[in-house]
Amino acid sequence: MKKPGIIFLASGNVHKIDELLQVLQPLGIDLKSTLDFPDAEEVEEDQPDLQGNALKKARYWFDKTGLPSISDDTGLEVDALDGAPGVYSARYAGENPTYDDNVNKLLAELVGKSNRAAQFRTVIAFVNGSDEHFFEGICRGKIIDEKRGDKGFGYDPVFIPEGYDQSFAELSSEEKNKISHRGRAVQKFIDFLQK
Ligand code: IMP
Repeated sequence: MKKPGIIFLASGNVHKIDELLQVLQPLGIDLKSTLDFPDAEEVEEDQPDLQGNALKKARYWFDKTGLPSISDDTGLEVDALDGAPGVYSARYAGENPTYDDNVNKLLAELVGKSNRAAQFRTVIAFVNGSDEHFFEGICRGKIIDEKRGDKGFGYDPVFIPEGYDQSFAELSSEEKNKISHRGRAVQKFIDFLQK
């Protein structure tokens, strides 16, 4: 496939946009996002798994913009909770929760549980017409019982990646990108673009 000059990211999350720009810009690829379409309706994430949600959003935005489109869906999968919150990570504490609400609910669910193993899993869907591909990235680690750090977003303050003593929220975005679920999925996507 010819390397595209512009890719559309089906997200308005500035953290994700920044993370992705850091790796795409050196390749001469520009990024557009839903921030360029402030009046667009939100695509509902109502599919039963990460792959389904990612594909739904990427297809929607390819149809709307005509640009090669990617979308990612991420879940935090906690072993002691049988993989929850998983695909429901964004709405774990109910409708329209804050990041803090979700983290507090997670910590409450884990009180008294000694198995703290967990992983973040990202699935990126890439849609360019009838060409559709998936890229998965996993980062294993553990959930600590108090928030640490003020960088990043979401569950970052309570997740320590394997091989580290700091939480994701204590690492710089460059350090996080190198080992994160999304960073790994993005790397697979970039390898695909460069083939
Ligand atoms: P989304 O699929 O990217 O919308 O992610 C779903 C939820 O997972 C978000 O609301 C965040 O709470 C959480 N999440 C996604 N990516 C990360 C991350 O890199 N660090 C911490 N939490 C994340």
